[in-house]
Amino acid sequence: MTGRIDPWRAELPENYARLMEEFGISSFEEILPDIPDPMPIMRRRIIFGHRDFRRILERMLGGEDFAVMTGLMPSGKMHLGHKMVIDQLIWYQRMRGVKMFLCVADLEAYSARGLSLAEARRIAVEEYLANYDALGLDLTKCRVYFQSEDEHVKRLAFLLSKRVTLSELRAIYGFTIESNLSSLFYPMIDVADILHPQLPEFCGPIPTVVPVGIDQDPHLRLARDMAGRFQKEFGFIPPSATYHKLLPGLIEEKMSSSKPEGAIFLTDDEETVRRKIMNAFTGGKPTAAEQRREGGNPDICRVFDLYFYHLIPDDRRLLEVREMCREGRIICGECKQMAVELLLDFLREYRVKYARSLERVRSAFGDPDATDKS
Ligand code: SF4
Repeated sequence: MTGRIDPWRAELPENYARLMEEFGISSFEEILPDIPDPMPIMRRRIIFGHRDFRRILERMLGGEDFAVMTGLMPSGKMHLGHKMVIDQLIWYQRMRGVKMFLCVADLEAYSARGLSLAEARRIAVEEYLANYDALGLDLTKCRVYFQSEDEHVKRLAFLLSKRVTLSELRAIYGFTIESNLSSLFYPMIDVADILHPQLPEFCGPIPTVVPVGIDQDPHLRLARDMAGRFQKEFGFIPPSATYHKLLPGLIEEKMSSSKPEGAIFLTDDEETVRRKIMNAFTGGKPTAAEQRREGGNPDICRVFDLYFYHLIPDDRRLLEVREMCREGRIICGECKQMAVELLLDFLREYRVKYARSLERVRSAFGDPDATDKS
C-alpha cells in the first residue's frame, strides 16, 4: 500500500475498509437507516462510504436547498460502470431543494488523454450527455458546462492555486519533475469545479455532495482542505461526498473503456453483448455435473456482479438467484443466458431513447456557441 490513490490510473482498490480507515471515510451503513427510500446501490452497500453526508441528508429531509456536483471526462465510450453515477443523479433529482451541476471535463481529457477540445466535445455529447439524457437525467435542470469555456471555474482555479504548494500536490498525486504543467495545474480546475456552486454567482455557501468512486477521493480531500483555506473569503462549506465501489469488469478487475472485451457499452449490439457475457469470468465449476452437485460461487462471479449492480433491482429475486447458484440449481450456461436476456431487454428499449436523446443533446450542446456561457 502506497498511501496514495491515483485517480488517473484505473486500479480497483483491493481493500475498501483499509482505505476508509486510512483516509477517514465514514461508513455509509451508519446513515442508511435514516435515508427514506434508499436506492438499491445504497441498500446493497455498493455505496459504502461518505464524508459529511448527514449535512446533505438533513437538507433533503427538510426540503431545503443543497447542491450536487458531478463531472464526466469525455474519453472512450460510456459503459455500465458509468451508469451508477447517473442513477444517483436521477435519484437526487427527485428531491425538492436540489441544484445540480454537471461539468464536462474537457480540459482533463486534453491534459490526461491527449484529446483535442473539439474531439472531447463530440465524445461528451454523443457518448455521455446523450446517454445521460436517455437514462432519464433531466439535463435542463442541471447547469451543464465545459471546463474549457467556463470563466467562473478557471478564475476560481487560479485564485485557489495561490494557497497550494507543489510539494502538497506531489504528495497527493505523485507528480514528478517530468510532469507537464497542465497536469500539475489540473487539480486546481477540479477543485474549482467542486467548489464553484458555492460562489455568490450561483448558490453562495451551500452544502454540496459529490458522488464518486473511491479513486476520486484525492480530489475530494484537496477540495475540502481548500474550502477551509478560503473559508474567510468565500464562506465555503467543505463539500460532502459519497463513495461507491467500482463495477468489476467481465474479465478484468475494473470495468473500463480501455478493456472493451470486459466492458458492456451502452451502444454494444446484441451479438457483442452475448459474446462478452458468454466469455465472462464466473464462479462456476469445471463441469456441469460438478456444479449441480457442489454449487457455484456467486461472490467471485462477474455475471452475478451484473445482477448485483444493475440487472436485478429486486432484492428478494437477487437473493433467490444467489441461492440457486450456491445450491447448484442453476449452472453457468443457463445463468449467462438469463443475464443476456435481461441486458438485451434493457438495451433494446434504451436504444430507442438514445436516438431521440442524441438529437436533442446535439442541438443543445453540439455547437460550442450553444453551451452555458454564464
Ligand atoms: S451460476 Fe450464475 S451466478 Fe453462479 S457462478 Fe455461474 S454465472 Fe455465476
